[in-house]
Amino acid sequence: MKSSRYGISSLRKQFPDDDACLEFVFNALYDRRCSCSGMFRRIPGRRQFQCSKCRSQVAPTTGTIFHKSGTPLVLWFHAILAFFNAKGTLSAKQLERDLEVTYKCAWRILSLIRKVLPGFPRLYDHNLSYPDLVTTVIKARHGGTRRRKVS
Ligand SMILES: [Zn+2]
Repeated sequence: MKSSRYGISSLRKQFPDDDACLEFVFNALYDRRCSCSGMFRRIPGRRQFQCSKCRSQVAPTTGTIFHKSGTPLVLWFHAILAFFNAKGTLSAKQLERDLEVTYKCAWRILSLIRKVLPGFPRLYDHNLSYPDLVTTVIKARHGGTRRRKVS
């Protein structure tokens, strides 16, 4: 039994909406606690978080492939799942049907995912779970200029 099995039901459960996706992006890249010891909280209606104390703001999608995309994050996450389960050999035509988006949009999403996951699945651990793959995508284009998550 494959431990990394993950389908549309799991996706809907873990990522029911854009808020859940954005929380995941934030947690993959930033600490909840600000360096001033305040806590980051979501700014309602915006793709941003703000520190409760020093008021500094973080836009977690900046520098990721989701940045400046009008496509909802749930669709991006769905596309990554389709890519994950197709083991990399997904066509833009297929994605266009799955996501009910235009061919141009599907093509753009797919080319960006391919860009940040070169050699997938060949060069990746085959026990990689879907959430791990999403984390890889999120961190891929994230340069060293930003505050890193301290583990
Ligand atoms: Zn702060």
